Amino acid sequence: MSQSVSDGGVLEMARRQLDQAADRLGLDEGARKVLKQPQRVLMVSFPIKMDDGRMEVFTGYRVQHNFARGPSKGGLRYHPLVTLDEVTALSMWMTWKCAVVDIPFGGAKGGVVCNPKELSVGELERLTRRFTSEIGIIIGPEKDIPAPDVYTNPQVMAWIMDTFSMNKGYSIPAVVTGKPIEMGGSHGRLEATGRGCVYTIQDAAARLGMELKGARAVVQGFGNVGQAAAKALAELGVKIIALADSNGGIFAIDGLDLAAVLAHKDQTGSVTGMPGTESMSSSEILELECEILVPSALENQIRGDNAGRIRAKLIAEGANGPTTPEADEILLKKGVTVIPDILANAGGVIVSYFEWVQGIQHFFWTEEEVNAQLRRRMTASFDVVYSTKEREGCDMRTAAYLVALKRVSEAMQLRGLYP
Ligand code: GLU
Repeated sequence: MSQSVSDGGVLEMARRQLDQAADRLGLDEGARKVLKQPQRVLMVSFPIKMDDGRMEVFTGYRVQHNFARGPSKGGLRYHPLVTLDEVTALSMWMTWKCAVVDIPFGGAKGGVVCNPKELSVGELERLTRRFTSEIGIIIGPEKDIPAPDVYTNPQVMAWIMDTFSMNKGYSIPAVVTGKPIEMGGSHGRLEATGRGCVYTIQDAAARLGMELKGARAVVQGFGNVGQAAAKALAELGVKIIALADSNGGIFAIDGLDLAAVLAHKDQTGSVTGMPGTESMSSSEILELECEILVPSALENQIRGDNAGRIRAKLIAEGANGPTTPEADEILLKKGVTVIPDILANAGGVIVSYFEWVQGIQHFFWTEEEVNAQLRRRMTASFDVVYSTKEREGCDMRTAAYLVALKRVSEAMQLRGLYP
């Protein structure tokens, strides 16, 4: 399979964000140089036997950005547009995310260039098992712990855990998080990213004096994150007026019935064509008048060319990297509050941390315990970022970067330079 290069310059964007925060923090040149590069990159090409007997070769990556605060952590995505630059940017964002919510991990990310929608379950399983064996030399519960990301799910995590364990000769549940509950997963992990995102919306709404009951929300992306976020928002009385998945969007001025949308998606494979709704493109829904916008699909959605048309008051980034630095400047001038990805979508990796701890201790928590701990950590992190924003007179992304960068650079300094 050929490697796509259409990643919209996300690595350059991640480095620019780092530079901006490093300038403000007065970070020394050496630390800045280190943090601009991933510490370790593994690229693998591996053959898979397809159902029709053909052999196909796939390319995959695992990038470990930084280990200063602990083993590296981050998801695996299966997508036709995965590139090394994209995975590297995502691994950097994981370093900041784990630091901003103060969990003892560095950042990593992985991906396989493939279209899982065109693979059978058998092909997906063989691809996952072979990829796990290939990256098995650098992952492990004390080294680097993968998790779900775009188009990977608990079943894929179960295959990773099984393959890694078979190769070692004994069960090692803590090698991966986001597993099914039946074999070492944590309660609340599946919904954690969307739920955590809504906790940050509640915290932001309280600061902004925004009434959530009756507020209008637009959710772009109806996968794991978008679905859980939409559900949690609806439970607070927020009206979901528009949704989109990779096929397109739907709009209903009086609000969508989420259960009906889910049933429609189950039946047809998409939210599009839902009776009683108006069709719109995924980028058009971003420009609808609303109080809350939750981009929870992919990178590069809110850019210099469309940010001026955004009419939301509050944006909570369920996805990683949905807003470019050019768009950030425009949104700041317009007075739109952006809860940045490294804070807004950190609920997933927080509960991954809980799953890892539970797996290592062989002691499992109830869903209530998980959610209460998630809420506590999200709100504590939100408060630190918000007070940094107030003190520094900057936007929330810069504030989150300042908090994260300070924690990572302090750990690097204390560990010192080897040799
Ligand atoms: N893929 C998720 C993220 O981007 C979760 C990572 C994890 O749980 O390790 O944050």
